[in-house]
Amino acid sequence: MAKKRENNGASCCLCGRTEPQVILLTGLHGYVCTECVETAHEMIKTAMMGNSASSGFDLDKEKLPKPVEIKSFLDQYVIGQDEAKKYLSVSVYNHYKRILQGKVDDNDVEIEKSNIILVGSTGTGKTLLAKTIAKFLNVPFTIVDATVLTEAGYVGEDIESILTRLLQVADYDVKKAERGIVFIDEIDKIARKGDNPSITRDVSGEGVQQGLLKLLEGSVVNVPPQGGRKHPDQKMIAVDTKNILFICGGAFDGIERKIAQRLNTKVVGYGASQKSAHVDKERIIQYISPQDLKSFGLIPEIIGRLPILTYLNPLDRDALRNILTEPKNSIIKQYIKLFEMDGIELSFADEVLDFIVDKSIEFKLGARGLRSIVETIMMDLMFEVPSTDKKTLKVELDYAKERVGKMNHSA
Ligand code: ADP
Repeated sequence: MAKKRENNGASCCLCGRTEPQVILLTGLHGYVCTECVETAHEMIKTAMMGNSASSGFDLDKEKLPKPVEIKSFLDQYVIGQDEAKKYLSVSVYNHYKRILQGKVDDNDVEIEKSNIILVGSTGTGKTLLAKTIAKFLNVPFTIVDATVLTEAGYVGEDIESILTRLLQVADYDVKKAERGIVFIDEIDKIARKGDNPSITRDVSGEGVQQGLLKLLEGSVVNVPPQGGRKHPDQKMIAVDTKNILFICGGAFDGIERKIAQRLNTKVVGYGASQKSAHVDKERIIQYISPQDLKSFGLIPEIIGRLPILTYLNPLDRDALRNILTEPKNSIIKQYIKLFEMDGIELSFADEVLDFIVDKSIEFKLGARGLRSIVETIMMDLMFEVPSTDKKTLKVELDYAKERVGKMNHSA
């Protein structure tokens, strides 16, 4: 019997969602929501087809995308960062091979889970890489910010809330969520503040790292379907994190100093090799090693559960210039598309593109700044031109300079 649409506290006994959040609750003694009924139906269908993979791409060894394919997909969206792309492609490939391996008997080699940690300054493409890979694999993907996490019982979000988001994007299909990807941003912000484990509690640092451990290594976690602590009586959903791939990202500001220190101490003294002569001081991040993460304040257990460590290079002028025009949905291509929809052919003088890059370097905004500068230049044009009968429009340097000049005055 379908329940009337009134909010009298009834909730789905499977996912815990209440009346306004679902289309319909149905049942006699307890309620089930239409979404859960649909999910159950899908699961039964898949089970009957003899295939337990209900998520995204087919988990079929033949169809599993190879690392080279994964990387060339990433190349379409992300400029440079070849090292990180290679690492990501290989680890994602291995991760899904591991899922395919399924249950391992005692005599077989068990492939271990390989979560990833990406280190690189802000705006160099960490989130973009993780997002793009999830798009390629068509698996549920969510981004969480490590800074909002606290130990259970403290103000902030419980660690389990990470999985609430994943469940939500997977439409509460637990099987699907259990193969998803979680990107934990700003992992560096939960580094231990000092070297000494302090007597006062470090609720947002080491405690959170300890909490994360069990998620990263793979265990069954009870997840509040609606997150937070606002719904104390919601029924928990058990989610196994064994096959969830965690990609952590962080800027680790100042880690270059730790790397340099380590490289220096290594080359001083016995067996000092020629290697020091080759150290590329501009891109010292490429020498990052797990020890540096430890000196930064990540606990060894966390580092151990993030075995794939790779880095992103700072973006130089050429990279920024490419970001503007090259990716499949580059900023410039997006504006051209916007005008095309009004029947207007938009183009930019080359000097305008160089000018945008220069400004974004000057404002120290990196890739993040490109969009806001282009937006400033284009705003009036986007307002006026669609009401004219113009069929072509070329943005020239003088106009761009004038617009950005105005922005400087108003700032
Ligand atoms: P973060 O490293 O801080 O996670 P993001 O991935 O969020 O940085 O990048 C911010 C924005 O800058 C992206 O949305 C994208 O438009 C652009 N961007 C940054 N790095 C790249 C890159 N290597 N290639 C293409 N676009 C990039």
